Amino acid sequence: MANGLTYMRNTSTPEATKQLASTLAPYLRPGDVVLLNGDLGAGKTQFVQGVAAALGVRAPVTSPTFNILLEYAEGRLPLYHFDLYRLDEPAQLDDIDYFGVIDGDGASFVEWAEKFPDDMPYDYLEITITADERGTRRIVAHSYGSRSRQLLCVWANDSKARLG
Ligand code: ADP
Ligand code: MG
Repeated sequence: MANGLTYMRNTSTPEATKQLASTLAPYLRPGDVVLLNGDLGAGKTQFVQGVAAALGVRAPVTSPTFNILLEYAEGRLPLYHFDLYRLDEPAQLDDIDYFGVIDGDGASFVEWAEKFPDDMPYDYLEITITADERGTRRIVAHSYGSRSRQLLCVWANDSKARLG
């Protein structure tokens, strides 16, 4: 497995988080998996909203906490938005065909994957969002696997060029 890359940015508004997320969208391919870590209210769903808008999803993107999985089919590629917060057992991942979906035809964003450390995808980008005392978000992305390394590399270059 290739060595991981790390990329870090701060955002001071929800719009800035969505804008950063929007620069990732053009590079997403079927089978890409992004795990989103961070406390409740950190901005994980905001990030997915930015990705969705940039993929061409016009439907409102809401938290999948109660649905576990929400799918958006109208964009450039299918978007799968998971929230594993309400799952208790790793076996429930099979009930929702978690590995089948993330290996499928779209890009997957997963909130609360850290609940299941023994069930990590094969290759994934991990994005950790932390709020500081002033409300700024620190967004740290790290790649696990060669595809995610490549994805993070092009995203980091492009977002630096676009956002400074
Ligand atoms: P999570 O999915 O991590 O629980 P949400 O994305 O649903 O969190 O909510 C994040 C909340 O924090 C929103 O109410 C948003 O307006 C607010 N917020 C404030 N500053 C930021 C920021 N820089 N980035 C993202 N969200 C922010
Ligand atoms: Mg959320």
